[in-house]
Amino acid sequence: MKFFNAFRKKSPWILHYNAGSCNGCDIEILAALGPRYDLERFGVINTGNPKQSDIFLVTGPVTYRSRERLVELYCQIPEPKVVIAVGSCTAAGGVFRGMYNVEDGIDRYIPVDVYVPGCASSPQLIIDAVVESLQILERKSKAIETPFKLFGAVETVAGKLSRLGMAKKVTDAED
Ligand code: SF4
Repeated sequence: MKFFNAFRKKSPWILHYNAGSCNGCDIEILAALGPRYDLERFGVINTGNPKQSDIFLVTGPVTYRSRERLVELYCQIPEPKVVIAVGSCTAAGGVFRGMYNVEDGIDRYIPVDVYVPGCASSPQLIIDAVVESLQILERKSKAIETPFKLFGAVETVAGKLSRLGMAKKVTDAED
């Protein structure tokens, strides 16, 4: 687990999903990933596979048609994961708020770790959010590691006790 977490910190992969945006924020995400702002210098790769992603970057106010896919994609991303809501319409509907076909915000469906303000958000703010999400990923990784460590410690003690018991039985048998 520690081994994988070291790599994740150096090279988090993102999954970008448009949940009904006007494409304004999506263009800013592409600008952030492009050579000018160069988000890839942090090792970030835009992957199309949720099972290989660490950061879920969502734009749009979540339409009725996209909500199911949004939840499915979220569930397919392995833990630890971070969700970044890009743009004011992802946070609370923005300019689409109250329309017949939108849900007015993402957090009715999935938990959000970082909100990026703006309509459209800027590449600088998106990069800030990704850098912040690296710290969140590290905290979440540690929270997952702790039960594994405890389990490992209990296993080691149990193994030692059982070996001691076996050694005692062998000594008793020899006597
Ligand atoms: S926040 Fe503004 S620019 Fe971004 S997707 Fe919504 S309407 Fe478009």
